[in-house]
Amino acid sequence: MLGENLSEDYKEKIAPGFCCLAITEKCMLKCKMCHKWQVDTFTENTPSIAQYKNFLANLRGLVSDDFIIHFGGGEALLFEGVLDLVSFCAEKGFRTNIASNGWLIDEEMAMQIADSGLTEINLSLDSLDEDVDDYLRGVKGVYRRKMKAIDFLSKYCKNTRIGICSAIYDLNLDGILPLADWVNNNDKIDSIFFMAPMQPNNTPLDKTWWRGQYGFLWPKDSAKVCLIVDKLLELKASGRKIGGQNSQLEAFKLYFRCPEKFVKKTQCNLFRAIHVSAVGDIFLCFRWEILGNIKKTDDINHILNSEQADAVRQKIVTCRDNCHFLLNCFFEGDYPFFLDK
Ligand code: SF4
Ligand code: SF4
Repeated sequence: MLGENLSEDYKEKIAPGFCCLAITEKCMLKCKMCHKWQVDTFTENTPSIAQYKNFLANLRGLVSDDFIIHFGGGEALLFEGVLDLVSFCAEKGFRTNIASNGWLIDEEMAMQIADSGLTEINLSLDSLDEDVDDYLRGVKGVYRRKMKAIDFLSKYCKNTRIGICSAIYDLNLDGILPLADWVNNNDKIDSIFFMAPMQPNNTPLDKTWWRGQYGFLWPKDSAKVCLIVDKLLELKASGRKIGGQNSQLEAFKLYFRCPEKFVKKTQCNLFRAIHVSAVGDIFLCFRWEILGNIKKTDDINHILNSEQADAVRQKIVTCRDNCHFLLNCFFEGDYPFFLDK
C-alpha cells in the first residue's frame, strides 16, 4: 500500500492512475512533430527485462485491478522483449496498450502480438491522404505499411482492440471528419482517438512554440477547428467509434482558442502518473525531477512515498502548461478538490 506517513485522504488522491513506459527512444520514422530521430538519444543503458518485471510486479500491489500499462517510445515494437513484458503484464492482470507507428507490423509480428495477450494497440494515422500522412511521418510508404498492419492485426489479434490515434494539425484539418467516418465504417478498427498538436518532441522548451518555426503544425483557423471538434463531440454522442472523454475534446477547444491559457479549472492531474524513461528513470512528470531508477530499485512504494515525490507533486499542482502529458496522455476532467496536504 502507499506510504504509512500519508493520510488516508491524501493517499487516495495520489494513488497512481496512469503508467507509461517510454521503453525506447529509437524510431525508424522522421515525423515532423517529433525530433527524437534527430537527437542521438540512442542508448544501450536500458533496464533489463528482469528489472522491468520487478518494477511491474511491485507496481501491481499499488494500483487498481483494471490498471493499464502503456508502452510508448520511440517506436515501442523496436524494443526487443516488449512483447515478453506485455505477456508478463497479462499474467499479472494488468491491461496493456502499445502506441505504434505500424511500420514493423507484418504477419509474423501480428501473430506475436496476438500471443502476447496485448489488450489494445493504437496506430498513429493522421490522414487518409497518403501524401499528407507520409509527409507528416517523414518517410515515404508509411501509410501503405500501416494499412497492411491494420489488415494483419485484424486477422490475427482477435482479442486486441485496434485503435487509431490522430493529431489535429493545420495540414490534416480538412481530413479529420472523413477519417472519423472511415474508422466508424471500418470493421477492422475499434476506435479513433484524437490528440492536440504539441511542440515537437526533443526540441528546446518554447512556451509559445505555435508562433515559431513549428507553427506550421498549429491550426490557423481556431473557429474552424473548434467547429470540427464540436462535430466530433456530436458524432461521439450519437455512438460513433470516437474514444477518449468529452471533457478532453472540450479542453482541446479551449486550447485551440487560446493555447496560453491553462485548460483546467483546478490543477494538473499528473501527480497521479508514473513515467519510466528508456534508461529506467522514474518521474511523475518529465518536466520535473527524476525520483529513482528501476535499475537501482523496484520499490516504487518507497519512491511515491518520498519527500522528493511530494515536492514534485507541489510543483505539478502549480504548473500551468498545456503540455502533451496533460492534454493527450492522461486527460482527466477537473477533480472536485485541490491537492493539498
Ligand atoms: S512521433 Fe512516434 S513515430 Fe514519429 S518519429 Fe516520433 S517516435 Fe517515431
Ligand atoms: S502541466 Fe506541467 S506538471 Fe502537468 S504534466 Fe504538463 S508539464 Fe507536467
